[in-house]
Amino acid sequence: MIVAMQESASEDDIQQVIAELVKRGFEVHRSTGARQTVLGAVGQRADVDARDFEELRGVSHVHRIGVPYKLAGRAFRPDGTQIDIGKGLKIGGDEVVIMAGPCSVESRDQLFGSAEAVASAGARVLRGGAFKPRTSPYAFQGLGEDGLKLLREAGDRFHLAVISEVMEISQIGLMAPYVDIYQVGTRNMQNFNLLRELGKTRKPVMLKRGISATIEEWLLSAEYIMAGGNYDVLLCERGIRTFETYTRNTMDISAVPICKKLSHLPVAADPSHGTGRRDKVIPMARAAVAAGADAILVEVHCQPDQALSDGAQSLYPAQFAELMDQLRMIAPAIGRKIA
Ligand code: PEP
Ligand code: MN
Repeated sequence: MIVAMQESASEDDIQQVIAELVKRGFEVHRSTGARQTVLGAVGQRADVDARDFEELRGVSHVHRIGVPYKLAGRAFRPDGTQIDIGKGLKIGGDEVVIMAGPCSVESRDQLFGSAEAVASAGARVLRGGAFKPRTSPYAFQGLGEDGLKLLREAGDRFHLAVISEVMEISQIGLMAPYVDIYQVGTRNMQNFNLLRELGKTRKPVMLKRGISATIEEWLLSAEYIMAGGNYDVLLCERGIRTFETYTRNTMDISAVPICKKLSHLPVAADPSHGTGRRDKVIPMARAAVAAGADAILVEVHCQPDQALSDGAQSLYPAQFAELMDQLRMIAPAIGRKIA
């Protein structure tokens, strides 16, 4: 942390700031200029609020250099994290993992039809919501445990791992036998009690970016899970809210390389929620792989026009197969391949 003193600060003011920094465990390096004194405070203090120092007499401004997320930060594991999903599947290595399936589990026929289509095109993980966070309380809310049973059965039948959204603490144990990855949705990115409980499990967690979360807030949410000892966190960019109304959300593809630099955690991209429009999903999925995403999450429905949720952004099976062919060409251009 750098504390720049005002030009008018007295020696007494400077000494008081130094004393406060030392009291809080920092080592202080002083640089006395002709007009201004700058204090460099060195120490691993994630809990210190820089604004506390801005309030002290004689301080001009305070600039934080260290990151507040210690476990999620790149320095914790400079070589990057690979998440083992089981059955030889890893996220975060050379191979890009494709996760696909319907927004919601609606029925056996719908799920099995969609799962067969995504598996035959090359997806490795089946997605499908059993507990649905819907904007309207009157919209389809999901099949609950029956949906989870169908997901597991379809996953096993078509050799796919399974990911599904967990919305509250009471669902963690219920879901454990059925899913390989817990999904935390955008609405729950800052449900800190849920994150802490997921930190106690040893199952991978995909943490979606909050709809208006900064990257720092998102990484601090990952830190909540990791602080409990669960280091298998996959970040997922799913679009943020901006002033643009043409798309459902604005997909921030720059978040992929930014997170890869700031953090060792693997990063996924969800172009379905990221754009909300079927015809925009394919180009944004291609762009996300080119930008370095470790996984892609895509909504695919065997009959999108009949879907109970997110039909307008769900790909038809033939479109998904075409996307997979394209991704198999794009990945080698950046030294990767599709898992
Ligand atoms: C979903 O994946 O279907 C979902 C509800 O996602 P998000 O939390 O990104 O809206
Ligand atoms: Mn959806």
